[in-house]
Amino acid sequence: MINSKRGGGASEEAFALLGHEIRLDILRAFFERYAPVDPGSRSDVREERTLSYAELMAATDMEDSGKFNYHLEKLRGIYVEEIEEGYVPTAGAIALYEAVIANRPTESVPTNFDIDESCPNCESRLQGKYEQEFLTVECSACDLFWGATYRFPKNGLSVREGENVYEALYDRMMYHVGLARTGQCPSCAGITSLTVPRERLDEDSTPTAEMTCETCSWFVTVDILSALQFDPQMTNAFLELGVPLSGSGSMRATEQILPNVTGRVSTDDSSRATISISHGDAIAKITVGDELEVCSVTIE
Ligand SMILES: [Zn+2]
Ligand SMILES: [Zn+2]
Repeated sequence: MINSKRGGGASEEAFALLGHEIRLDILRAFFERYAPVDPGSRSDVREERTLSYAELMAATDMEDSGKFNYHLEKLRGIYVEEIEEGYVPTAGAIALYEAVIANRPTESVPTNFDIDESCPNCESRLQGKYEQEFLTVECSACDLFWGATYRFPKNGLSVREGENVYEALYDRMMYHVGLARTGQCPSCAGITSLTVPRERLDEDSTPTAEMTCETCSWFVTVDILSALQFDPQMTNAFLELGVPLSGSGSMRATEQILPNVTGRVSTDDSSRATISISHGDAIAKITVGDELEVCSVTIE
């Protein structure tokens, strides 16, 4: 059963349109011979990437123009658009093509492997696991390490062969989290809703944030520091606490202080959460609202 909230009807129709070999041949004709084009491309680039009706028909080995035209019409407006000089693929068609490149369904990558890096908390070797195109990096020796599980295209593993895989996964996830915090889904550009689960505001657990797309299936749960990391007030707080941020090109600098982060419901406003970060002799208290906005920062 497709949830109508997820745009079930529209996606069914879009998939159904592709359910014919001739239509796939038409799209393949674009992708085999031409790189994607955007409307602002220089005219000469655009021209060489546009296929005329005759070129398109030849590329699909069709001789019956009535039949060819019928299938081309089905794709028009959704996957293919007619411009003055001929036909071009739409951004939707390009996204399909890129998803295939990113995930290369026929390619196999290892499912369990060592990561060439040690746990920031216990120094053990980190472990990687790849299932259903989700990559998990974890420490099998301690439970202080937060790690990550996030969708990661197969291509990202194939081109990296072990090294930098965790950094690549982490940075990809964190930039997506940063965008989602602004209210935009990194996958479909829909609206995201943000919550700070109350049950983890127990002054003991690491507080988390949940981000859910209201249109597609994109969803993450992250520690609260990762959720807030692009906020300049947080950068200030880390600097004042003396957290070394400059040691890494990646955004993993806050990982080591995660075990020292706790939260509680704010005493003066129960819709807000107060997050405590202790580092050395200092404690930062960050108050965030229910939309994950930073309300105040104090250092004690
Ligand atoms: Zn560990
Ligand atoms: Zn979405």
